[in-house]
Amino acid sequence: MTDRVLLSSPDVGHLEESYLVEALRSGWVAPAGPAVEAFEREVAARCDVPHAVALSSGTAALHLALLGLGVGPGRTVVVPTLTFAATANAVAYTGAQPVFVDVDPRTGNLDPALLDQACAELGPSLAAVLPVDLFGACADYERILPVCDRYGIPLIEDAAEALGSTFRGRPAGSFGKAGVLSFNGNKIMTTSGGGMLLTASRTLADHCRYLSTQARQPVAHYEHVDVGYNYRLSNLLAALGRAQLHRLDEMIGRRRALRDRYTKVFSAVPGVTLLGADDPEANCWLTSIVVDPQTTGWTAADLAQHLADRNIETRPVFKPMHLQPVFAGARVVLSGAARHLFEHGLTLPSGSAITELQQRRIFDALTEFLGRSS
Ligand SMILES: *Cc1c(COP(=O)(O)O)cnc(C)c1O
Repeated sequence: MTDRVLLSSPDVGHLEESYLVEALRSGWVAPAGPAVEAFEREVAARCDVPHAVALSSGTAALHLALLGLGVGPGRTVVVPTLTFAATANAVAYTGAQPVFVDVDPRTGNLDPALLDQACAELGPSLAAVLPVDLFGACADYERILPVCDRYGIPLIEDAAEALGSTFRGRPAGSFGKAGVLSFNGNKIMTTSGGGMLLTASRTLADHCRYLSTQARQPVAHYEHVDVGYNYRLSNLLAALGRAQLHRLDEMIGRRRALRDRYTKVFSAVPGVTLLGADDPEANCWLTSIVVDPQTTGWTAADLAQHLADRNIETRPVFKPMHLQPVFAGARVVLSGAARHLFEHGLTLPSGSAITELQQRRIFDALTEFLGRSS
């Protein structure tokens, strides 16, 4: 049996090993230490934001960003319906209601016209807008930010998938009152698990750092006036993150080269488009195709089966949040675009750790499938 080609597996090696061992030997094995502070400085610089708070996950960063901006019970937050559950879960943790808004069919990112409609409908209950940079391509902030400004609603950017991307030259994660990154195992770079909150506000950064360490007052005995969380990133994982950050551009380059190969293959196939793939500023975290079965004569599921038979992993595009049982009954503003992408999309192996030999297997399998199906 050949080895399994995975969608997006961690890409780590000698550099990560040396950073991790060095941190271990330094004695800083706690969720505090020089690597945490250095990692925060380096990510803040990379994303061109004044402050960064290293946390145990992207979900924790979303949760604290929402709390820090005063989101809570009785309020609503706009979330694009096409996202990973963490975006909506974080809203639910605060006691607020996520309101699911549909996406641009070309990119899968929050539809600015529908956002405008949602803001008008939600009125004073609306506490924040939480766009997602889907699969690494930034949402259209040129159109989204003016809508938020017009209604006076803060924007939190879920850039969990978008570290290293830019929009009109500005780094992902820098567009909102707060931005959120994830370093989960399958993301563009990993700390095995981790996240970061980015912000221009020192007050917000300090408040989130305070909440992330059980909200301890600065006194010797344990004094608490707020409910806190255990959300700080460990020094060991921050060291791993620093090594990954050194390699970020190299890893993005490999994902981009893979996307270019997919683009070449599918540009010759009528009825197949690449989701948001014409964005030259995206980090190419995941590459997804959208299939029009009327034109192709085959479905996304047919191709998924063909690749699975050859031990190559694919995945449907996210099932929209408004179709999830856990969020049944949530308010929605829909066009049908997210459901279409879910039903006809397919995410292809996109990771930077995919070897040349594995790439040959992927593209041989695609050539075989497309030759047989045409
Ligand atoms: C991965 C991801 C998250 C959550 O990050 P974790 O570090 O896994 O908690 C949030 N939002 C989106 C869009 C993600 O892809």
